[in-house]
Amino acid sequence: MYYPGIRLRRLHRADLSISYPGDLTISENDTLVLDSMLGKLAQWLRMAGIYVVFSPFFRDEELIDVEDIVVTRDEELFMRRLSCSRRCILVRSSNILRQLSLMLDTAEIDEKYFPVPKYCTTCGGALREIDVREVLDKVPENVSKKFKTVYICEKCGKVYWRGSHHLRIGERFRSAFNLCKHIDRIIICIRGRSCMLRILNI
Ligand SMILES: [Zn+2]
Repeated sequence: MYYPGIRLRRLHRADLSISYPGDLTISENDTLVLDSMLGKLAQWLRMAGIYVVFSPFFRDEELIDVEDIVVTRDEELFMRRLSCSRRCILVRSSNILRQLSLMLDTAEIDEKYFPVPKYCTTCGGALREIDVREVLDKVPENVSKKFKTVYICEKCGKVYWRGSHHLRIGERFRSAFNLCKHIDRIIICIRGRSCMLRILNI
């Protein structure tokens, strides 16, 4: 369906996202820049293997001219980026599971996906697999006995391993993918530009 000239003000549904351009998909080479209201989403997208730049101190002015894809909850920022033809995603939902679901749908990440340790959830640095014996001072004894290798952040030095929390993360992703089945996708036109509107209907 195509709805030309729809006004954004009429779309005050809580659980929707709008992406510009309409066919915007997120590839491995893309960087997402998240506004200061989306810290939790930044962590989850890093777990999904997407490269995310985030700071709680970003100001709108800094984000208007960024070349990368900006993800925001701020409608005004979205409209300003739209008017200068910059790639942008507006996420309306305040619920993290729903935000994640809308972003997974936008990124077109495969449902069979299981979180891989690729980026540090804290700082966004790249993770590298290392021998657990190199970081014995940073892991509990039971972890050093159970795992031969763990992952270390090349930026901040935080160490990760596939513990029980990893299973909980996987369950969270499965819940988000289940919500994706209830998303309606509509191409709309805002200020003469083609955007993709996603509405979560449950
Ligand atoms: Zn880090």
